[in-house]
Amino acid sequence: MKNIMFIAPPAAGKGTQAELVVEKYHIPHISTGDILREIAKEDSEIGQYVYETLASGKLVKDEITYQLIEERLARDDCKNGYIIDGFPRNIEQAIEYDKILEKLGYEVGNVILINIDEKTLEKRITGRRICEDCKSIFNINDVASAPKVESVCDNCGGKLYQRNDDNLESFQTRYQMYKEKTEPIIDHYREKNVLKEVNGDDTVENVFKRVDAIISE
Ligand code: AMP
Repeated sequence: MKNIMFIAPPAAGKGTQAELVVEKYHIPHISTGDILREIAKEDSEIGQYVYETLASGKLVKDEITYQLIEERLARDDCKNGYIIDGFPRNIEQAIEYDKILEKLGYEVGNVILINIDEKTLEKRITGRRICEDCKSIFNINDVASAPKVESVCDNCGGKLYQRNDDNLESFQTRYQMYKEKTEPIIDHYREKNVLKEVNGDDTVENVFKRVDAIISE
C-alpha cells in the first residue's frame, strides 16, 4: 500500500487517526514525537536536551530528527508501507525527507492534511489524557471521548496521564510553530499533487471514514 503522511496542527487528532490506520492496515506508525518522548526519558545529555525542548513546545534540532527517521524507515517493516506522523515539520525537513525517500527507493504516498481551527484545538488540548500502558487517548473536556472513570483507561485499566506539553502556554507556542514552520510544507506537497485534505472538526469515527476513503482509493 501507499505510504501515508499526516500533517495537522497540534491536538488535531493525527495520533488517533494514525492508530486507527495501524489497526486496519497493520503498517508501522512512525511518530517522531513518540520517538523523541522515549529519548527524553534517557539519562544523557541528549535526553536532557530533548526533554527540555519538548516541554517548551519548540522543535528539536533537524539533524537529530533526520538520523532517527532514516534509521527507522530503513527497517524491513517499512518496506510495504508506513505512516509517518510529525515529520516533516518544516520545509528544510521536507526537502531532506525527499532525499531520504530517494535513497531508500520509497514514494511519498498520500499526504493527508487534517484541517481544524485554533479555538477547537485549545479546548481539546487541555483535556487530553493518554494511557500509560496501551497509549489510548481520551478527552475529559468532551463527553464522547471522556474516560468512564477519571484517570483510568477504559480499554486496559491503565493509568491516564497528561503530556507535559499539553498546557495552554505550550499549545500556543506549538500552534505558532505550526503556522510559521509547518504550514509552508503544505504547498510543497500540493505542488507534487499528493496532498489530500480532510475536515478534522468531527468525531474520531467520521474523520477516520474520510481518511480511509483516501487510503483505499
Ligand atoms: P508531536 O507528538 O508530534 O506533537 O510532537 C511533540 C514534540 O516533539 C514537538 O512539539 C517537538 O518538540 C518535537 N518534535 C516532533 N517531531 C518533530 C520534528 N519532526 N522536528 C522537530 N521536533 C519534533
